[in-house]
Amino acid sequence: MTIATTNPFTGETVKTFPADSDPLIEQKLQKAAAAAKQWRRTPFAERAQRLSRAASLLEQRKDALGRLMTLEMGKLRKAALGELDKCIMGCRYYAENAERHLAHEVVQTDAKRSEKRFQPLGPVLAVMPWNFPFWQVFRFAAPALMAGNVGLLKHASNVPQCALAIEEIFRDAGYPEGCFQTLLVGSEKVKGILEDPRVAAATLTGSEGAGRSLGSTAGAQLKKTVLELGGSDPFIVLPSADLDKAVTVGVAARVQNAGQSCIAAKRFIVHERIAPEFEKRFVAQMQALKIGDPQDDATEVGPLSSRQVLDDLDKQVRAARQQGARIACGGERLQRPGFFFAPTVALDAKGTRVWQEEVFGPVAAVVRAKDLDEAIALANDTPFGLGASAFTTEPQEIERLAEELEAGQVFINGMVKSDPRLPFGGIKASGYGRELSQEGIREFTNTKTVWVG
Ligand code: NAP
Repeated sequence: MTIATTNPFTGETVKTFPADSDPLIEQKLQKAAAAAKQWRRTPFAERAQRLSRAASLLEQRKDALGRLMTLEMGKLRKAALGELDKCIMGCRYYAENAERHLAHEVVQTDAKRSEKRFQPLGPVLAVMPWNFPFWQVFRFAAPALMAGNVGLLKHASNVPQCALAIEEIFRDAGYPEGCFQTLLVGSEKVKGILEDPRVAAATLTGSEGAGRSLGSTAGAQLKKTVLELGGSDPFIVLPSADLDKAVTVGVAARVQNAGQSCIAAKRFIVHERIAPEFEKRFVAQMQALKIGDPQDDATEVGPLSSRQVLDDLDKQVRAARQQGARIACGGERLQRPGFFFAPTVALDAKGTRVWQEEVFGPVAAVVRAKDLDEAIALANDTPFGLGASAFTTEPQEIERLAEELEAGQVFINGMVKSDPRLPFGGIKASGYGRELSQEGIREFTNTKTVWVG
C-alpha cells in the first residue's frame, strides 16, 4: 500500500511519502534500544512532566492537528477536536496515575518481605489504524511511556502526516531521542521488525486478519502482544427503554466517525413489542442526517476514509439486499466526488452479510427479538466480542445483560465509549489484552516477584 495522503472529501491524492529504507529502519531500532536502557531508569516525576508537556502541545496545536485528521481520513472537524481532547485527558490521566498503578505491592508470605514490582519491557511496536489516528496512538503511548517503555509507531499508510505530527509532539515535549519514533513503512515490513530481538513486545489495533498475522509472528517469537481488533457490537432495545433516547443514541452510535468505529453499534436488536415504533423513528432520523463537507460544523456524516472502504461497504449492502434484507433507507453510494455512502437501515437483516460481518460505514442492521432470551442469543451470535449496549430500566434485565453479553464492555442506557479510567478491550475475534486504566499500563510490564528471606 502506498504511503500517501488522499483527501476522502475530494478523492484526490495530495501527497505521497517514500517508505523508510532498511538502513533507516535499522537506525531507528538502534535508537529505540539505546533509549529503552536509559528511559526505564527515569523517575516517574520526570516521565510525568514530559507527558504533561505533550498534553499541553496537543492543546496548543489542536486546530492544525484536527485539520490533518480531516484531510487524511475525513473525520468531522468537531469530532477531530473531541478526539484531541480525549488524548489530552488520557495523557494527564497517566501523568497523574501511572506511579500509583505501578507502585510496588507488598504481599504477606513466609518471607521477611515479598512484593510485586512492575517493570518495563523495552521497545514496543505499535501497529495502528487510521480511524482514530490520534487517540489510538495516545492510548497506547501514554501508559507505555509512563511505564518506562519506548514506542515504535507503524501507523496506517493513509495517515502519514498524523503519524509524523505525533512523533513531533513527543520530540517537542522533550522526550530523549529514540523514546518515540514513527516508522513510515507498509504492513509487509511488520513481520521483520517484530522478529528483531530488540523489539520486546507489540500492540496492534486493526482488523482481525492483521491481528492474526501479527499474533502468529509474535507467538513464534514468544513476544507479548495486545490485540484490539474488529467488532460488530449489538445494541439491544427492550420495552421499558426510553425510546426517544434509544433512537437518538442509536443513530449517533452507528454513524459516529461515518460508521468507521470498532465500537460503533452495528446490529440493532429490538423487542418485537416496540420494534415498529423504533424502526419508524430510527429510519426517519437516519434519513434526516446532513451529509457533506467534514470541515463544515453543520455536517453530521462525512465521507468514508478511502475508496477501498467505500467499495467494501457497497458490496456488503448489495449482498444483504440479495440475501433478503429490506433496505428502508439509503442502500447506495452517493453520486458526488469523494467517498460517500448514504446512511442506510437494513431491516430483517439476520443472517445477511451486514449482520455476520463487521460493517465499517453508516449502515445499521436491524432484527426483532421476541424476548430477552432471544435478544441475548442474537447479540452473542457473532464471532466478535468487543462492546455491547442495551436500553432498559428493569434491574433484573440489566443484571442479566451485564452477566450474559459476550463482550469486553457492556453499556446500559448509553453508547459504548472508551475512558482512560476504565479498561478497554475485547474477547473472541475482537482480540485480547486490555488498554487504559490500571490493566492497560500493566500490559507491557514484567510483573516481577521479589522475595527476601
Ligand atoms: P487494518 O487493515 O488491519 O490496518 C490496521 C493497521 O494494521 C495498519 O497500520 C495496517 O497497515 C496494518 N496491517 C494491515 N495488515 C497487516 C498485516 N498483515 N500485518 C501487520 N500489519 C498489518 O485495519 P483497518 O481496516 O485500517 O482499520 C479498521 C479496523 O480496525 C477495523 O476492523 C476496526 O474494528 C479495528 N479497530 C479496532 C479497535 C479496537 O480498539 N478494538 C479500534 C479501532 C479500530 P497499512 O495501513 O500499511 O496496511
